[in-house]
Amino acid sequence: MVRNPRYDILFEPVRIGPVTARNRFYAVPHAAGMTNSMPHMRAKFRETKAEGGWGVVCTGYVSIHPSSDDAPLPFATLWDEDDVRSHALVSEAVHRHGALAGIELWHGGGSVMNRASRTAPLSPSGTSWMATHVNFMGNQRPRAMDAHDIAALLRWQAEAARRARRAGFDIVYVYAGMGYLPYEFLLPEWNQRTDAYGGSLRNRVRIVRELLEVTREAVGERCAVALRISLEELRARPSEVAPSEAHELVGLLADLPDLWDVKLDSSPTDCAPSRFSPEGSHEPIVEFVKKLTRRPVVGVGRFTSPDAMVGQIRRGVLDLIGAARPSIADPFLPRKIDEGREQDIRECIGCNICISSWHDSVPVRCTQNPTIGEEWRRGWHPERIPPAGSTSSILVVGAGPAGLECALSLGRRGYEVSVAEAADEIGGRLRFETRLPGLAAWGRVLDWRRAQLERLPNVSIYRGNRLTAEEILELGNTHVVIATGARWARLLYSALEIPAGRLEGPGIFTPDDVAEGARIEGPVAVYDFDNYYMGSVLAEHLARSGQRVAYVTPAGHASAWAIMSNEQPQIHRALFSAGVALHTLSRVTAFAPGELTLTGQFTDTTTRIPCRSLVIVGARFASDALHQSLAAQPEELTAAGIRSVSRIGDALAPGAIVHAVYSGHRYARELDADPATLGFRRDAPLARHTTPAAASRAARGDLERLT
Ligand code: ADP
Ligand code: SF4
Repeated sequence: MVRNPRYDILFEPVRIGPVTARNRFYAVPHAAGMTNSMPHMRAKFRETKAEGGWGVVCTGYVSIHPSSDDAPLPFATLWDEDDVRSHALVSEAVHRHGALAGIELWHGGGSVMNRASRTAPLSPSGTSWMATHVNFMGNQRPRAMDAHDIAALLRWQAEAARRARRAGFDIVYVYAGMGYLPYEFLLPEWNQRTDAYGGSLRNRVRIVRELLEVTREAVGERCAVALRISLEELRARPSEVAPSEAHELVGLLADLPDLWDVKLDSSPTDCAPSRFSPEGSHEPIVEFVKKLTRRPVVGVGRFTSPDAMVGQIRRGVLDLIGAARPSIADPFLPRKIDEGREQDIRECIGCNICISSWHDSVPVRCTQNPTIGEEWRRGWHPERIPPAGSTSSILVVGAGPAGLECALSLGRRGYEVSVAEAADEIGGRLRFETRLPGLAAWGRVLDWRRAQLERLPNVSIYRGNRLTAEEILELGNTHVVIATGARWARLLYSALEIPAGRLEGPGIFTPDDVAEGARIEGPVAVYDFDNYYMGSVLAEHLARSGQRVAYVTPAGHASAWAIMSNEQPQIHRALFSAGVALHTLSRVTAFAPGELTLTGQFTDTTTRIPCRSLVIVGARFASDALHQSLAAQPEELTAAGIRSVSRIGDALAPGAIVHAVYSGHRYARELDADPATLGFRRDAPLARHTTPAAASRAARGDLERLT
């Protein structure tokens, strides 16, 4: 197929200082949970994007000095020559496919705790970031930087920039965003200095100017110098000489960087979940930058539609289409547009599971793309899968995310696949969940797989087919995959923090009952100890349909886990605006239609609230009766020619959609595989060449001053 000429503009080369990007697709810096301890995984992960057609592929955040240490969060380092060799694997891998390699040099300042390096964190004025996210909290306050520290910071940036050049990078960043050190200088709340670095915006921006200057001097004519900056707060601040301080700042620096990489200020707004923000949500903040600089501008917005991308360029908002999440969900997005296959793009759903993996300090995971992070350690490629290892036929029972991903990947391998689905429509849990407030974009998990499956003649889907064990035996496929999902339980939450104590009777419901159309009479209480999205989204759904709703949880916040996916702040706002009453740190201990009794999670206090319907969103258990029944009939299985019966997805272990998709994909990859190739390779840091004495000398002078 050929490229739609409408999208030709996306494939124009763009000059960035001394280097040229082959097209406008720019995989921006983003954390991916792979530190210098996983150099091969990291290189292959970034390489796959370059292979997929991105014109520029950047690293995640890379610390320039031990005084910027984000442990235990997974950050990279560029502190010495060993780190240079480790990062050179990335630039070499990216170059193999004709892309430019960018590196995001970073100093965390007062937002990091230096837990591992144990040096006092640095900040403009000793002001700490009092984060509400437990991962970012700490009990060490930063100290104020003096003139020597500022000189040292500039030296560290220059030294790191020289290392970046030696490591083969084409674009070297100054990072002034997201609460990190240079950003802290920009805002008067952080920066109360009375010297040349505080006070007026011209003074507050001085450190960024000097960082850009020393970086340029360090990299010479070989590399471009990019400025990554957060503009949300500054745009909200008035300026005497410009429409806002953001305008004033861009005017002051104008053509100093070779590239402006513009973004918002906090992870929940910058990487906003689709539940609350549409594609292109950055535009109202960053649209003015291009008017004030002659340098190219890159920005993000969860862009997956080529028309939206073209719109950004034609309307003069951006020159380069930045992407973190869309490049994770589909590393081959540019190639697909180039080849006229935009309908094949596996669109990001905006669930932010990828971001949760950084918070979890593990390599990136993705709901849409099960191969992400597995490119090196399992050898999984997002677009290629080995051919079938036999002529087996496979029956997949259940067409939820697990069953669909499994059938699709088996079908691509060339197996004969039948899918039986009890309901009249495929989709499993997505059938209901995508109808809940804000979750429509999650339907892309189903839509993409449905469209891909329709093209596979060797996969047949039988809707309205609830299979029994006897019927499965009669069908006699070689392999049977049980993907029948899970059910929510009517269990309460014990003082030991485990689900216990079954509650039955009228007025007691689970999300399955709501999905199946149960009549829920108000006032309603949603009792959530699942802690992810279901409790809060159901509360919002019921409140918006006119019910009086109370949300009860033993946790301290609504949807406590959703802090990991950047959703929690907006979940609280959504519940508030829907009029939902919040009862946190509370357990349900009794219910009689009309009244619900709550007991304090850490106290014995009891409260009674009016309640006619209680919706319990707590434990889920696998719907694996079919599996148990078949497993109990080994002789019948043999007689029917069935060689294996396996469970995948929620039928194996209930989890989020990301787990179901991964589980289905893994089954399909591993069928008939050589057992020696199963499991995963373990990555390891490159052997050190720098002697420990030399390495410590490199940082000693500065660290002595810092302690
Ligand atoms: P997962 O997230 O693991 O894919 P889901 O709950 O989303 O699980 O999907 C499971 C699907 O299995 C549902 O669509 C359900 O209707 C279907 N299912 C359950 N039991 C049977 C059965 N006996 N035969 C066919 N389909 C079934
Ligand atoms: Fe998009 Fe979700 Fe994948 Fe992240 S995990 S890239 S938000 S689909």
